[in-house]
Amino acid sequence: MSDTQALRPGEQAVDLPSAADAALRFIGTIRTPWTRREDCPRQGDPDGPECRIVIDPVWHPALKGLDAHDRVEVLYWLHESRRDLVAQSPRSDGETLGTFAIRSPIRPNPIATSIVRLLRIEDGTLVVQGLDCLDGTPLVDIKPDRRSFRPKAPPRPGDTAAP
Ligand code: SAM
Repeated sequence: MSDTQALRPGEQAVDLPSAADAALRFIGTIRTPWTRREDCPRQGDPDGPECRIVIDPVWHPALKGLDAHDRVEVLYWLHESRRDLVAQSPRSDGETLGTFAIRSPIRPNPIATSIVRLLRIEDGTLVVQGLDCLDGTPLVDIKPDRRSFRPKAPPRPGDTAAP
């Protein structure tokens, strides 16, 4: 996706072919208090407002055991982002950086991640703190935070200790 938004000094867009080489299956919808991008926090605050991650019913069995974790990693799709910038000037202050050197929502595949505080799970809905996205943002995946996750399977070569 590209849009007609004016580029800041130093920013650079590229022409992209239409992308059709992979497909994601969204697994739910994130409900937050924010309806405008400019009102979202730049990064989630673990003491921020409660948000709700509404999981599609077919995936409710996939939540089994998640409530043992008080922090979970959320992957979501910043669906309103443009996708075509390779250089960005996030603060409009003359400093331009490559897209992969920053956590801007503008990226070729606008995947976002946050570690959130899991307060409770109610009927397939996760109540969390620590998100930074628009109301209605599509959900890509949920994982236990790797800092608290211990693999259930026996160790194997190549496993590394959780950081
Ligand atoms: N925490 C994630 C990360 O680091 O991967 C996302 C960080 S990104 C800087 C957060 C910003 O993305 C918000 O402040 C808002 O401007 C923008 N944003 C939030 N939801 C969005 C959406 N659904 N589509 C496009 N932009 C969004």
